[in-house]
Amino acid sequence: MASNENDSPALYIVATPIGNLGDMTARAIEVLRSVDLIAAEDTRHSARLMQHFGITTRMTPYHDFSDDARVESLLSQVLEGQSIALISDAGTPLISDPGYRLVQRAREQSIRVVPIPGVCAITTALSAAGLPSDRFTFEGFPAAKRTGRQKHFQSLVQETRTIIFYESPHRILDSIDDMLEVFGAQREAVICRELTKTFETLYGASLGQLQSWIREDANRQRGEFVIIVRGAVAQPEEALNAEVLRTLTILLESLSVKQAAALTAQITGVKKNLLYERALEISKAHS
Ligand code: SAM
Repeated sequence: MASNENDSPALYIVATPIGNLGDMTARAIEVLRSVDLIAAEDTRHSARLMQHFGITTRMTPYHDFSDDARVESLLSQVLEGQSIALISDAGTPLISDPGYRLVQRAREQSIRVVPIPGVCAITTALSAAGLPSDRFTFEGFPAAKRTGRQKHFQSLVQETRTIIFYESPHRILDSIDDMLEVFGAQREAVICRELTKTFETLYGASLGQLQSWIREDANRQRGEFVIIVRGAVAQPEEALNAEVLRTLTILLESLSVKQAAALTAQITGVKKNLLYERALEISKAHS
């Protein structure tokens, strides 16, 4: 069994490449060779990967629509002493891919779950996009229908973290159109297409420019996409204007800090926390 794996049975969650087979890790190969069974999203699809790396382990299908009995039957094999590896068609299982229910149930039954990390389109795209990578939110696939998609984007208009979406070639144009409408033509974004593959393309521009760029050439609409949108500019802390401060100071003459802050918030609409802190400072200065 590989490196820090011990002999006790486990469910291994194994990442596989998203295009370039050279990205398969040595540890993934070793684990896939040594487990008793590989649960794969699509066994025919994964057969090519197995053949390439000379892995002869038996495979069985596993999808998220596999019923509870299927989940329990796989896990009972681990409980009986066998090791199973879960793989998806590409990248890291569970990331917009099957596996969540299997891992959740395994952990509930105290079955050892071992992650075998590797490629994921989210981190691959983010690492080269040139947008802030310190804080980001992964939003999965936008909804297939326009109303749902726009609603999703609208809920993110004020999001200050970098926003990451997956998208398919069938909906890339519609998604870019709706992003432009909701986030505005000036908002910066990066289209990351066919990562790690022959036609890998990373193109960053304003959404207005991106829309023209992708419509210009049908080849740019083909393949697999990660879209990364720059987060909104953070709103500066609400400043306490002179009128607000005057109200707070007058009320502090006859009310407690808490009451004065609450009443000023009611009158002016400024956040209570902000007023409370300021009221404390004023009352300390006057005591
Ligand atoms: N589990 C995978 C991962 O770890 O990234 C994602 C699986 S999800 C079903 C497939 C989506 O991931 C694609 O539609 C695309 O949005 C993104 N994706 C996968 N491979 C990609 C690639 N080579 N280039 C760009 N996006 C990719």
